[in-house]
Amino acid sequence: MIDFNNLKTAFSDKSDADLNRAYLLFKSMSNPFVSKILTGLVQFSLKLHLPIKPIIKATVYKHFCGGETIQESQTTIDKLWQSRIGTILDFSAEGKESSNDFNRALEQTLASIEKAAVSDSIPFSVFKPTGLCRFSILEKLNNHTPLSADEKIEKKEYEARVDAICKLAFNKNVAVFIDAEESWIQDAIDSIAEEMMVKYNKQKPLIYNTIQLYRKDRIAYFNALLKRAENNYFIGIKLVRGAYHEQEIARAKANNYACPVHTIKVNTDTDYNAALELCIKNIKRIAVCAGTHNKESAQLLTELLEEHNLNKNDERIYFSQLLGMSDHISYNLSVANYNVSKYVPYGPVRDLLPYLIRRAKENTSIAGQMGRELSNIIAEKQRRKNA
Ligand SMILES: Cc1cc2nc3c(=O)[nH]c(=O)nc-3n(C[C@H](O)[C@H](O)[C@H](O)COP(=O)(O)OP(=O)(O)OC[C@H]3O[C@@H](n4cnc5c(N)ncnc54)[C@H](O)[C@@H]3O)c2cc1C
Repeated sequence: MIDFNNLKTAFSDKSDADLNRAYLLFKSMSNPFVSKILTGLVQFSLKLHLPIKPIIKATVYKHFCGGETIQESQTTIDKLWQSRIGTILDFSAEGKESSNDFNRALEQTLASIEKAAVSDSIPFSVFKPTGLCRFSILEKLNNHTPLSADEKIEKKEYEARVDAICKLAFNKNVAVFIDAEESWIQDAIDSIAEEMMVKYNKQKPLIYNTIQLYRKDRIAYFNALLKRAENNYFIGIKLVRGAYHEQEIARAKANNYACPVHTIKVNTDTDYNAALELCIKNIKRIAVCAGTHNKESAQLLTELLEEHNLNKNDERIYFSQLLGMSDHISYNLSVANYNVSKYVPYGPVRDLLPYLIRRAKENTSIAGQMGRELSNIIAEKQRRKNA
């Protein structure tokens, strides 16, 4: 059993000042009223071009992000690697809609692959399809809606960007994750992800699609994927529960269609754990990254490795968390010799705001992350005081 309650290990590279900053941050985020006011104020101030960037950068950004550039993220990469935790550089500018922005995201992802190719501390690269293409195009592709002549050009450009990333990943022998997004564009994402797996995963799993287990249909999807891949190509898979739960439910309600996601938490948990078992049972054809902050799922994966006589640091199996979250999982797994990595978002402060606001929302829910993060920080502060 991994002792995820070992907070001394979990916070070993955090100074008292780091802990105090994290405490203040999670304490403010945990109060829905304060959190709402603060996020509103930040958005408003940035719109008015008030000089609040230094404040954001020294607080919430410092906790959850690596830096504005890959170079600026080096301190974080090195610090994580001292604890044998790898970095996944994630250029997190979201909600962009111009081809300049898409080309910038492409360049950043290519640069992150080049860097990963020469750094032991960077085991994966990642991109979000909406970082490379307009959302509405992906939606049309998803629904097989006919495209205009201009849209057809955009589609080609998007496909060329995805292929350029996967091709470089293949040439440099770097694994790359394709993030999962809203269900109403996900078929389009799955389709290009599988195309890339067919093309580049012939010898080993380098291209990873993501499966969101809050979706009711994903175990069936996974089984079908296993069949399609059999004897054809290796599967790379990142398993997550899913980040768009509220939006999925609200959209299904508003448009009067069957809700695609579980609404009972334990059903999501059951499917997540079933997917972990499917991965390990089929490990000859699969490489898996468990993207989770859930202790029980992380524990289950360690048990599955033991049951199947797999090495703790088998290169096909990774655990992954987000920077600034669930260090009790990352650091305790890493000292026990499992493969661990963290998403390290980077990019201009203003562009990372949607990402930061999502983290704030996630940490506001009493039942969710807040309980975990804040209570661990409080317990560690107390432990240090007693020591
Ligand atoms: C490395 C990494 C990569 C990620 N990549 C992606 C990605 O590509 N796409 C993406 O969407 N997300 C991604 N995420 C975010 C991820 O989906 C959330 O962090 C995750 O859902 C939080 O769940 P958890 O596994 O930590 O477990 P928990 O904290 O135990 O579960 C919380 C999750 O359970 C689900 N849930 C909550 N309430 C209910 C309910 N009432 N009924 C049913 N289900 C419920 C939701 O998905 C919620 O996020 C990633 C996370 C990590 C760590």
